[in-house]
Amino acid sequence: MKIDVITIFPEMFESIFDFGIIHKARQAGTLELNCLDLRNFAADRHRMVDDRPFGGGAGMVFKPEPLAAAIRSRRDESASSWTVYLSPQGHVLNQTRMRALADKDHLILICGRYEGIDQRIIDLFVDEELSIGDYILSGGEIPAMVLVDGIVRCLPGVVGHPASTRDESFETGLLDYPVYTRPAEFEGLSVPEVLLSGDHREIARWRRLQAREKTRRVRPDLLDQNEQ
Ligand code: SAM
Repeated sequence: MKIDVITIFPEMFESIFDFGIIHKARQAGTLELNCLDLRNFAADRHRMVDDRPFGGGAGMVFKPEPLAAAIRSRRDESASSWTVYLSPQGHVLNQTRMRALADKDHLILICGRYEGIDQRIIDLFVDEELSIGDYILSGGEIPAMVLVDGIVRCLPGVVGHPASTRDESFETGLLDYPVYTRPAEFEGLSVPEVLLSGDHREIARWRRLQAREKTRRVRPDLLDQNEQ
């Protein structure tokens, strides 16, 4: 899979591209990840990528020309390039969407800043606007990192043990069950006996119950969705 990220702060991505599973996926050739500095696509000598909004108002807006040039430099018209604008106005990202995006061959991610990007870029090039939640961040870089990390976990062979993603929160429509490791006793709290029993049927049953109970308490909306 190939992911191109368009940003005015490519250095921000160095902190995540070279660690953990993203690094592993790049090393294995499962993922090709590139950062494009939007300023390299500006036509003027000051490398301006933003301007004041028509109609007035606070803040600046990303100009359309550099963004269009950056997208065109990467978009493969013949193949399945999919362009995503990280935006609080998009559909809210979830695990189902993450899996669907992991099936694409090529993603172009646009990171906005300031007041956002010129609407004509959305109209002409963007296949999907995606939000990482109902709150405002100062830029699309952290949302793009969230997206890349979540997608990479879905790529085949990236997470060492496939079972570790299969049982995770949202994969089964429930939150995950609680996990414990050694020591069996810690500051007066013991690990639930069933987990020490060696009875794998009972353990699986206990985990299902715990997952359901936690989901009911914290995210009843997930149960409602499953029961529809
Ligand atoms: N004026 C915009 C609005 O109210 O919808 C907010 C712009 S925000 C300050 C600047 C940039 O941060 C956006 O263009 C977007 O790329 C990114 N951003 C902020 N919050 C986000 C969120 N919840 N999900 C995804 N991207 C977000």
